[in-house]
Amino acid sequence: MAVPTADKVQEIREVTRMERIGAHSHIRGLGLDDALEARNVSQGMVGQIEARRAAGVILEMIKEGKIAGRALLIAGHPGTGKTAIAMEMGKTEALTQAFRKSIGVRIKEETEIIEGEVVEIQIDRPATGTGAKVGKLTLKTTEMETIYDLGQKMIESLTKEKTKFVQCPEGELQKRKEVVHTVTLHEIDVINSRTQGFLALFSGDTGEIKSEVREQINSKVAEWREEGKAEIVPGVLFIDEVHMLDMECFSFLNRALESDMAPILIMATNRGITKIRGTSEIGPHGIPIDLLDRLLIISTTPYEEKEIKLILKIRCEEEDVEMTDDAMTVLCRIGMETSLRYSIQLITTAHLVARKRKATEVDVDDIKRVYSLFLDESRSTQFLKEYQQEDHGNQLKI
Ligand code: ATP
Repeated sequence: MAVPTADKVQEIREVTRMERIGAHSHIRGLGLDDALEARNVSQGMVGQIEARRAAGVILEMIKEGKIAGRALLIAGHPGTGKTAIAMEMGKTEALTQAFRKSIGVRIKEETEIIEGEVVEIQIDRPATGTGAKVGKLTLKTTEMETIYDLGQKMIESLTKEKTKFVQCPEGELQKRKEVVHTVTLHEIDVINSRTQGFLALFSGDTGEIKSEVREQINSKVAEWREEGKAEIVPGVLFIDEVHMLDMECFSFLNRALESDMAPILIMATNRGITKIRGTSEIGPHGIPIDLLDRLLIISTTPYEEKEIKLILKIRCEEEDVEMTDDAMTVLCRIGMETSLRYSIQLITTAHLVARKRKATEVDVDDIKRVYSLFLDESRSTQFLKEYQQEDHGNQLKI
């Protein structure tokens, strides 16, 4: 076997590092104060005050469980932080399963446990392979190996399957103990879908879940809710580039939002009036009017030069890149004239160029170099147009 050279080891380290720095890794929150006012520069967020404040208000409502079933649209020019804002509110996932994955069901079981006392646990449906049987389980708490076992057994009797349990510290034994277990609707779907079984949760191969199964789960969960055994925790589903959805998806969303178990839906788009996919009609943001009508809309606005500069500085810090003031001014100009995203990408590449010439700081020449090496969108389009003309209008092959 070949022994890796020092160069190769270095290469591997750099790849790991590049992966760690994501597009939004400098952002750690919406940068709001306790009164939900947006601080101009906070938690990696710069400007976009109105949009962030609005997002904060929605988040607060979500926390209070006030806006289940509501949907939000973030609209604005490319690179104005729509994804960044939405990322702080939720995660991107695919439609139906994602919808149900984003709804938590908090199942409660309350019991008094005193050390040395005998406790009785009623088991209706024991989980397979756990040795538990139908009937009453009588245990003396001091005989238990750990409190974990008791919690585990209670949960098995409640959810039928061996599931995870958050271990309580020993001291908790004396107190009234509430076992709260949060599963998602999707997890309950998978566990109950006859052909799959709970192992599918780990393989990720859940297949299609029959709509009858989902309906049964909905009514079971609704029952638990009535009995005070369960509580719905509305989640957040984020769909970026929402104009890419077609009419079928939109009508699905429209219907889904009517369910009282629907999560908060956050969508983002950078399109104005455009074609609604799957139809010959056009609509604002490519969204049908009936869905649009349900949405709360937040808009993001283009950045001023000083905001771009601040964002670029924050990105440099995030990537541990030192840059001269002149280089920063040039990079900022590029950001204004091309796009914020393009100028952010130049930071990493210019840093590599600077390191190649053994410099510790990125200078103007490094920026110029990467600007000529990597095209922004408009220069690339221009290049392709010229190339196509030279090619006498033949189909361009890239
Ligand atoms: P698009 O319409 O092209 O999808 P977008 O509005 O979703 O664009 P983002 O992807 O959120 O734009 O932003 C582009 C880059 O700029 C990201 O790296 C993002 O983290 C950063 N960024 C955008 N706005 C801000 C901001 N207000 N503060 C800090 N960083 C920001």
